Order: sequence, then C-alpha cells, then structure tokens
Amino acid sequence: MYQYLFGPVPSRRLGMSLGVDLVPHKVCSFNCVYCECGKTTRLTVARDAYVPAAEVSAELEHYLAHHRAPDFFTFSGAGEPTLHSQLGEILTFIRRRAPEARTAVITNASLLDDPQVRAELATADVVMPSLDAATERTFRRLDRPSPRVRLAPLIEGLVAFRDAFAGQMWLEVVILPGYNDHPEELAALRAALERIRADRIQLNTLDRPGTEVDLQPASRAQLEQIAADWGLENAHVVAAAPAAPADAGYRADGDAALLATLARRPCTADDLARLLGLPEGEVAERLAALEAAGQITAVAQERGLFYQATDRAARGGAE
Ligand code: SF4
Repeated sequence: MYQYLFGPVPSRRLGMSLGVDLVPHKVCSFNCVYCECGKTTRLTVARDAYVPAAEVSAELEHYLAHHRAPDFFTFSGAGEPTLHSQLGEILTFIRRRAPEARTAVITNASLLDDPQVRAELATADVVMPSLDAATERTFRRLDRPSPRVRLAPLIEGLVAFRDAFAGQMWLEVVILPGYNDHPEELAALRAALERIRADRIQLNTLDRPGTEVDLQPASRAQLEQIAADWGLENAHVVAAAPAAPADAGYRADGDAALLATLARRPCTADDLARLLGLPEGEVAERLAALEAAGQITAVAQERGLFYQATDRAARGGAE
C-alpha cells in the first residue's frame, strides 16, 4: 500500500482522481469546524518538507509503472498541500513523467498571498481553492485559521493568482447553516467572488461528520437558492460523485481498499459501494466483519450510518 498516494477514486469534480497527500495528519493552516479529517493538530503557516519529496516521487514512479495514469493527480489530503515546500517540484515531476495526465491542487488559499506559492501553483492544470467567508469574524469562527492568516490578504492572493493563472480555477464555497448563511455574509461573499473571477464556483455543504458535533448541512434547496440569489452564471451546486468503473484498472482489493478509504474520510456503505465500485452486499459484509474486529466504528448521522477507521487519526484524511 502506498503511503502518500490514495485511490484512484471517482471524484465529484475530477473524474478518476489519484490523491497525493503531502502533509501528515493533520498539519493545516486552518481548523475548520466542518473538517472531515478531524481536528488540526499542528496549526501552522510554515512551509516545510513535511514528507520527503523523493519518497513521493518514488511512489508516483511505481504507480505509473504499474497502472494507467488517472484523469487527475490531485493534491489534497489530511491538511493543506501548499504547506509543503516542494509542491512545485512534485507538480513538475508529474508533468514530465505523465504528460497525458492533469494535476489539480485543492487548497484553502491561506498561502496565496505568497508569490512563491502562487508561482508553484501556476504549474497545475486546475487549482481548487476554498472561500467560506468574506468577513473576518465569520472566517475565524468557521475556518478557525492560524492567527497569522488574515482574510483580506487571502482574498487579494486569490485575485492576484486568478490574474496570472492560465489554468482553471474552481472555487468551492462550503455553506454551513448558522455560520455563513446570513444575508450580510452571503452579500460579502458574492462581492468577493465577483472580484476573484473563478472559472467555476461550486457550492457545497457538510457531507460527512465534521470536527464539531451538531453541525447541520444546508439543504440542496438552500444551496440552489443561494446560487440563484447570487446570480453568478458560473456558480452551481456540486452533484454527487460518479460511480467507479467496474474495470480492473481501478482498485478493488476488498478490505484494504475499504480501510484505506475510511482512514481518510468517514463514508456510508452507499458511498463505499460507489467509490470503490463494489457490490452493496459485499460492502455490507466486509463492513460488518471489520466492525466486529474493531477496525472501524459507525456513527449515526442525518445522511445515514457513517463508518470510519479506528486508526483514522494516524492515517490521515483526504479530498
Ligand atoms: S477542511 Fe481543509 S482547510 Fe479546513 S481544516 Fe480540514 S484540511 Fe484544513
């Protein structure tokens, strides 16, 4: 099993996506209340070689020697990928080694005020920043950033990056009722989004258990209403992930695949069947056995029963 690669899994936004995880669980510049990877244990804005770039490249080399290239190599994981000081080198390695594949970076945008980070990200095909708030108060309450991150430079960094970036920018806004769905915040967000001019604005909400209990997801109707009120033609509500293809090129190695997925994010049995392309009955049987063995636990949520690996904290999170 790879240490820094996960998947490929069908992504809502990227097709078949192989995850590249460049920071250990859970190094991040934010500690979002809705984070599906658990609480941030190292809240920092310091860039560093958190994992050895040579080991990541070796895993990528091995993967490409034994599998067909995915649609996307996606930098995400249990923390903020731009915190890795060699992100640009690894992006360049993939471009050279697998020119037919595309690269995407999911980022909380906290380091985009740094020209060096913007230059490294500019080598990706798709950059997927998030912006959940446009007022400092909501930003600090919802994303709980490092004290060194301020919202105004973050938004200016997004604007500067958009101006210079030739690739696609798909910006995600997570709407969380009681946090960022009041009219003033939504109006401020709209104004910021107009300035940033992302190619796509993707409205999303809580999909899995978050860091804090008692969070409620927005309804699809509420998200649709916000998109309609904004009246921005490139804003839309993200759809469910496509099903995994049944071909043998994608992983279906039973318990290991289930555990690797649940180590990165909580999922329902339906999620797992769709993500891994496994029959529902087989998923149910494997989940029951893993739960009996104490390798996973189940948590009841509004969308159903979510499973997570009991050693999830040690393994890290995902896209
Ligand atoms: S959701 Fe992303 S940015 Fe927020 S704490 Fe989790 S990993 Fe960090």
